[in-house]
Amino acid sequence: MPAEHEVRVRVQACGVCGSDVFLQDGGFGDHPLPIVPGHEAAGVVDSLGPGVDEVEPGANVALYYMSTPPADRWAQAGVPNRSPAVKRMGVDIDGAFAEYVIRPVASLVVPREPLPAPELAVLTDAVATPLHALRRVAQVQAGETVVVLGVGGIGSNAIQLAKAFGAVAIGVGRSPSKLELAATLGADHVFTSDPGIVDRVRDATGGYGADVVLQCVGTRDCYEMAIRMAAPGGRIVALGSSLEPFNVNPMEMIWSELALLGSRGFVPADIEEAIELRLAGRISLCHLLESLRPLGEAQLALDDLRAGRVLRSVLIP
Ligand SMILES: [Zn+2]
Repeated sequence: MPAEHEVRVRVQACGVCGSDVFLQDGGFGDHPLPIVPGHEAAGVVDSLGPGVDEVEPGANVALYYMSTPPADRWAQAGVPNRSPAVKRMGVDIDGAFAEYVIRPVASLVVPREPLPAPELAVLTDAVATPLHALRRVAQVQAGETVVVLGVGGIGSNAIQLAKAFGAVAIGVGRSPSKLELAATLGADHVFTSDPGIVDRVRDATGGYGADVVLQCVGTRDCYEMAIRMAAPGGRIVALGSSLEPFNVNPMEMIWSELALLGSRGFVPADIEEAIELRLAGRISLCHLLESLRPLGEAQLALDDLRAGRVLRSVLIP
């Protein structure tokens, strides 16, 4: 049962994300396993622990997957995702590939108007993660050019968010179907990822390169390519999970005042903004909701993602 300042939530939807595959493949290093995955969830408040008066049972909620100790310095500064003491649901503690989860009430995000649970679930990560990267980390401005490397569950939404923020969006991907998706979601240019890609990005940006490069692919080549396609003053944002080091030429960084930035998850305010964009009809979620599966098919959903058959699946307990 929920303890003080906790609630029990009946999970109605939980997205299956690339980082769940990374976790299962041992990508988090000497991280203790087994653990129940699931960090992209929405549901209904089922019961309240003592001292909870912020929500009522029956409330439609999205779950923020990170929690921090009380009085945590980073949480107090509005960046709990940076806290060294952060506990991630579905990574450090059991997650929402489950019928119920118990969460601190502070981790609930209540939408202004109810949204279907699968939509609310994917907004908490597939949308909030690139939103955080673009808005808070890269601080993208209207009129800037954003290159998104990798049109997957994160990159596809980065493209539509870049457009929503008034930027020019360039999608770079491997398969024709992903490039078609990027175009459907509003990309101004779509390019196949091949050795000529840096030149094509330069050609499309008056020879200068992109103001923001969102690196959603976790390979060394893509990281090195991302740095080469940035304009002077450009921000290269690392989102693609990888343990592989890459090379950086310091003089390239210095001469062009490039910023190489990491973006870790998101903060609750990013979920709130994602919900508002959805309620305003400014982002589409159809491409994330093509594969709804019962909870018992979690492994099949992970296999689909690993094989690149889907951008995302959503488990419905
Ligand atoms: Zn995720």
